Amino acid sequence: MKYILYCRKSSEDKGKQILSLESQVTEMKKLAVNLGLEIIKVYTESKSAKKPDNRPLFSEMIKQIKQNKNDDLGILCWKIDRLSRNPIDSATIQWLLQQGNIKIIQTIDRQYLPSDNVVMFSVESGMANQYILDLSKNVKRGILTKLEKGGWPNLAPLGYLNDGKGGIVIDKARSKYIEKMFMLYNEGDKSVKEISDILFKQGFRSRAGHKYHKSKVHKILNDSFYCGIMTKNGKQYLGNHEPIISKKLFDSVQDVLNKKANTKKQKLYFTYRGVLKCDTCGCVLTATKKKGKHTYYYCTNGKGKCDEHKVYLKENDVTNELTNIFDNVIISEKMIDLCYQASKVKMGKTNNYLTQTSQTLEDNLAKAENRKNKLLDLYLDGNLTKEVYDQKVIALDNEIVQLKKDLDELKQKKATNNEITLERIKDVFLYPIKAKKDFESTKNGEQEKIVKTLLWNAQMRNKKIANLTFKEPFNILSKIEDKSDFLSVRRDRDSNPRKV
Ligand SMILES: [Zn+2]
Repeated sequence: MKYILYCRKSSEDKGKQILSLESQVTEMKKLAVNLGLEIIKVYTESKSAKKPDNRPLFSEMIKQIKQNKNDDLGILCWKIDRLSRNPIDSATIQWLLQQGNIKIIQTIDRQYLPSDNVVMFSVESGMANQYILDLSKNVKRGILTKLEKGGWPNLAPLGYLNDGKGGIVIDKARSKYIEKMFMLYNEGDKSVKEISDILFKQGFRSRAGHKYHKSKVHKILNDSFYCGIMTKNGKQYLGNHEPIISKKLFDSVQDVLNKKANTKKQKLYFTYRGVLKCDTCGCVLTATKKKGKHTYYYCTNGKGKCDEHKVYLKENDVTNELTNIFDNVIISEKMIDLCYQASKVKMGKTNNYLTQTSQTLEDNLAKAENRKNKLLDLYLDGNLTKEVYDQKVIALDNEIVQLKKDLDELKQKKATNNEITLERIKDVFLYPIKAKKDFESTKNGEQEKIVKTLLWNAQMRNKKIANLTFKEPFNILSKIEDKSDFLSVRRDRDSNPRKV
């Protein structure tokens, strides 16, 4: 085994906790003597490791390692962060380690071996996220099953009560008002406001004794739950609960509602409604159509202390501004592939280990069952007393329970350690690249979807994006490293490498 010593300190490493280059070399050489390690080459470099392709000597070392055919090579360095502080170089090191081009990384206080997961931070955080996504998917699946069986997974609507056993029963005190509400509205000559007033006089009120707002009445009149059809996320399900009104009455009321709605002004559609915020005061920007043509976004100055409300943002300008958001979450495909390959190798090793372990457990389980049978034979042949037999069987039964539990846990580990999970993580990483292309080339409908997939909101100041809040899991991607790293990564991909 031969070692390459790599030492690095840059001007940005100001803290005293990072040794000077000289001291790093001295300390590591001392360590090498103590451990009996042979150093064949020393690199000392005063460059930052925050950006890839910034260190000629590091690149030279990587080249040397890749070209090496004859020796088992290890790297000596003072701390692991001396080797890399950016995702590309970290992935390169990880890959060389897992491929065995580097057999070991020895630092002042520990060793990193091919089986260790040194720097797979991006994929790891992706996995944590996937776990959360899967979990919420399972909850959704549970809700869906309940709906399909006719159960209501939420709080009972007004006029009904939850029975505490997962079912829904009629609230006798209020259901009669609900029925009356539908009948009154169906007559067609009363507004929801008037109906709210009439029913209040007749005793229809909230638990606190208040009148129900007209918007509540409107919501009830729109809800097919009262005729036995549950609606969730736009899909309808047949409910098990007892209807308060007939389907015929409900349909008729819908006709009355539609007629009234059509006489009202149609709601305008704005692409980025709800996404843009005022950076100065935190209000959500409102949209308006001027001269019936161009859409503008502006701050309504809801808190009365904002100057930004004089700024009108043209929708086209917003779209142009939003083309910049992708840079925050795009990681080069090269890097994504490196992470993916490395994780796949690691996954294969883990699976091998899990398979071997569960085989051992299965064998032990079979042996225990076998011994139990033999004991029974001995006992039946009169070669064992009842006491001894009972004692031995209890011990064996306990062992069997333990083994079964261990096997169970192994099965669960296997289920999460699979390629589908890995593929999904890769897709998350790749999504921003695809989204950027789609955003630049498609129409409004798609742009809205893309922006709302990635962002909670964009805070605007002076017609520019001042701040962005990403949704998970893209929030994690946006935080992996400084933006500057990704800029250099992109330059790399455009085959226009930065001069060193
Ligand atoms: Zn404002």
